[in-house]
Amino acid sequence: MYQLDTDQLAHALGYPHKGEAKIPARVVFDSREVCPGDLFVAIQGDRVNGADYIPTALEKGAIGYVAGAQYDHPGVAHIVAEDGLAFMQALGRFMRIRFQGPVIAVTGSQGKTSCKDLLTHVLRQDHQVVVTHENQNNELGLPMTLTRLTEETEILIVEMGMSGFGEIAFLANIAWPTHALITNIGIVHAEILGSQAGIARAKSELFPYVPQNGTIAVRAADQDLLAPYLKETAASFLWTGLEAEANTRYSARDLDLDTDHSRFRFCGPEGTFPVDLPYAGQHQVENALLVIATALALGEKPETIQKGLAGAAPLSSNRMEQVVSGQRLILNDSYNANPASVQATLKVLAGYKDRPRWACIGNMYELGPYEKTGHAAVGETFAALALEKLICVGDLTKDTAQAAIAAGLPAEAVVTVQDSAEALAYLQAHLPADAVLLVKGSHSMHMDTIVGGLI
Ligand code: ATP
Ligand code: MG
Repeated sequence: MYQLDTDQLAHALGYPHKGEAKIPARVVFDSREVCPGDLFVAIQGDRVNGADYIPTALEKGAIGYVAGAQYDHPGVAHIVAEDGLAFMQALGRFMRIRFQGPVIAVTGSQGKTSCKDLLTHVLRQDHQVVVTHENQNNELGLPMTLTRLTEETEILIVEMGMSGFGEIAFLANIAWPTHALITNIGIVHAEILGSQAGIARAKSELFPYVPQNGTIAVRAADQDLLAPYLKETAASFLWTGLEAEANTRYSARDLDLDTDHSRFRFCGPEGTFPVDLPYAGQHQVENALLVIATALALGEKPETIQKGLAGAAPLSSNRMEQVVSGQRLILNDSYNANPASVQATLKVLAGYKDRPRWACIGNMYELGPYEKTGHAAVGETFAALALEKLICVGDLTKDTAQAAIAAGLPAEAVVTVQDSAEALAYLQAHLPADAVLLVKGSHSMHMDTIVGGLI
């Protein structure tokens, strides 16, 4: 946090201030996380009213609080704001104005957190970086991230999530990115945005915010979808892609993909160098390409980029986590799912050539008009890879099962069950002792309980 006291903050943001002004160490809205020196912001949630926790926050050492005028604790620093969320957003915007370094916004349908983490591994080696914690990519998480800027911060990386029109523009209007990285234009949230074209429109809301000397890293494969909006920015586009794709300035050649590493030769206008990424799957190579192009634009040296990627920490939990249980290996990708990511991870599963390869795939939500075709595409990929057993979990996956069989998978290789509990019971009875099992589905399918039940 910048060294400003509560009175200065209130004044700058146009809120009244009461009590003795103090300089907060951090800004916190969850009373359980309050440490001595923090400023507590009361936010009205769906179920809890943050203001009910002001006494707890003060007992835990908060130096002050932000809440409506009716919550009075005489003497204590009190910034009078009825709407805690709006206060956070104004504060985030104010912190941003003080920050002079590059701000990289990471958005896209899938792979935002992966890219954000990879970029952080690269940049942290030589710079003070503030970055979104975990997945705090919304209208509250983003301003929270901005409050962590300090006089020492050199680079800010923010993940931006969205599920409807206007959300990216709203976040960009707080973070004012100098650089953007758009992982891909997939089909998640098509339910609200109507189509992939709608999703492209929503992501491109970032474009007007990125300045002339900034860059936007994006897959060449998404160029057609973004074409109508390219003129909305003066920034330079860094087009990335795998070897076969056209219009690509930054590409990955000589791909060597195994079950826990991806190796390739990076080629760009600045030259070529080998990359060894400790993540499995072609989708992670696509993520790495965007990260490399952005890091080069920020002036990082190839050696720094190679080292940062090679030393990248494992992905966040439930994302292709390798869980060993006896002789079995579970690829726990239960965090979430959409057709592209299921197909990408099925290809990783296919790499375990000498073991029974099973996949337990749950419903994928928010696909709107792509619901049927998306579920079917997964079945077709499974059949094309000729894997051993497909367990389809939930009503929507009946299209997956049908498509797999239509594409030539023997009917006895396909099992359909209602929910994760039934899937677990089936696996407990039938999963071979030496199998490799991929577990993946939309978050609300609770596919993680299958992994929990098996170990
Ligand atoms: P969220 O919208 O929940 O924040 P995210 O965009 O941050 O998700 P990650 O957390 O990086 O995405 O990855 C989630 C899952 O998406 C991974 O487990 C993986 O299966 C898949 N994934 C990651 N990168 C890609 C990619 N480039 N293309 C397709 N799927 C991907
Ligand atoms: Mg994320």
